[in-house]
Formats: sequence, structure tokens, C-alpha cells
Amino acid sequence: MLHNMPVKTLVHKDLTIEGYSRAAVQTYWRIPELKIGFDLGAQPWEFMSTATWFVSHTHLDHVACLPVYVARRRMMKMEPPTIYLPEGAVEHVERILKLFTRLDRGRLPCHLVPTKPGDEIELSREHVVTVSATTHTIPSLGFVVWARRRKLKPEYQQLSNDEIRDIRLSGQEVTHELRIPRLAYLGDSAPQGLDDCPAMYEADVLITELTFVAPGHRKERIHKFGHIHLDDLLERRARFKNELIVAGHFSTRYHNKQIRQYVEKAVPDMFDGRLHLWL
Ligand SMILES: [Zn+2]
Ligand SMILES: [Zn+2]
Repeated sequence: MLHNMPVKTLVHKDLTIEGYSRAAVQTYWRIPELKIGFDLGAQPWEFMSTATWFVSHTHLDHVACLPVYVARRRMMKMEPPTIYLPEGAVEHVERILKLFTRLDRGRLPCHLVPTKPGDEIELSREHVVTVSATTHTIPSLGFVVWARRRKLKPEYQQLSNDEIRDIRLSGQEVTHELRIPRLAYLGDSAPQGLDDCPAMYEADVLITELTFVAPGHRKERIHKFGHIHLDDLLERRARFKNELIVAGHFSTRYHNKQIRQYVEKAVPDMFDGRLHLWL
């Protein structure tokens, strides 16, 4: 492995969470089993093999490495990647890529997909991504990855296999789609970004920003700048049904040790062990 960027890894059931996130430094996450990543603030060399990325917003610590990533895939003769971006950003990113092509004399082939709250993106037969708005200083998106299964409609559940077969042969649909929220990603956002998307609280795994953790910070200011404070999570404790809550994007004003101390003091049980600090 080429050591170039910090990457921390955590396995939860059938999902592996990889990445790194510090406010104003860089943010990048990847879930290899889902074949997707979130944010391109930097790009560890091995992340290049993932061909589908979701960019939450265009602050530089979340998007700066987009041209580098696209160029590496071309250089390594991989398929052009697909990158979902807030819709208003696509035109500007296209211009940036054209300018880099002139400077670097290398093509930057990729599919940039304008994305907005309410969109549904089909990843595969098994997975679909829904898009929500987050509350930040610039347009910003949250994402939920759902597993989907076909399930027998409730009205047919008492019938025998033969009866179900006959109904199916008559051309009636006997199943409906069941969606299970597996993983949610909240990039930069005030807590409203969670409240406006209930699936964030339900997903098996939630990756969320938690920029501020020290007591005594003025919350109105934090919310105005589109970020979350530890107190916001505590106020919503009963709503978090997630099996795992990964908190990252801590402000650079804290050392790792301070972050642990502040959080462990305010939340001694770490949400019954479900809250994981990405340090
Ligand atoms: Zn950020
Ligand atoms: Zn931001």
C-alpha cells in the first residue's frame, strides 16, 4: 500500500467504512461493498478503484481532489467515473476541468451528474440512493443508501404457493419493494439536515459531521455556519435508532485527546456504545 493520506477503517456487519474527515482539512469516505464513496476532499491512492462518488458540497475540503481523481483513473486506464454533485456546481466544475486539461495537457473524462434534494439514484438492483438537503452555508446534500428487496404483498401472505403462482400467471404483481436504509451520510450541516431526513436516524449506519464538541460554544453561531455541536446530538438522543453512528469532521481547534475527553464527559455511555468517534 502507498502511504499518502490517512485512512481509518471500521467494519460493521457487511459494511466497511473507510476514510478520514477533519473540518477545513479534508473529507473522504468510502464503502467498498457498496462500490461508492462520499466527498473528494482528498483521494488516497487506493480509493481510485471506486468508480462512483457523491459530493455533498463544493467547499474545498470536500471537493479539491476531484480533478486529481479523474486524472488518475484515466492514467490507469480505468473507466471514466460517475460523480454526483449539487446541481448548481456542475457547470463550474466542468469549467475547472477544462482549465486543468489545458494546464496538464491531459483529458479528464468523467460523468458529472447534477443532483438535487428529492432525487433517487439507482446504484444496482439491490441498492438505491436518495438525496436530501442539508443546511449549510452553500447548497449541500445528504445521502441515504437503501437496500431493496421484493416482498410478497400483505394481502397474499396467507395464500398457498399454487394460489400465488396462479395470480402471478394472470399478470398481477404479487410482490412489492421493501426498502431498508443501510447507510446515511450527512456531510456539513446544521442539525436541521438530520431532522429533515428521518431516514438519517433509521439507517443501520449513520456517518455524520460533528464539528464542535467543547462545552460553552454558542450554538446559534454554529448553526448559522451550518454545523453540528455535540449538544445537538444529545438533544436528539432518543431519535437515533442507528446501530452505529460515526462522528467525524471535528474542528481543527481540538486535539484528538480533547475531543475524546469532551465527548466521553458529556456522553459517558457513548449512546450505548453506538457512537464512534472517527479519530
Ligand atoms: Zn467541511
Ligand atoms: Zn462545508
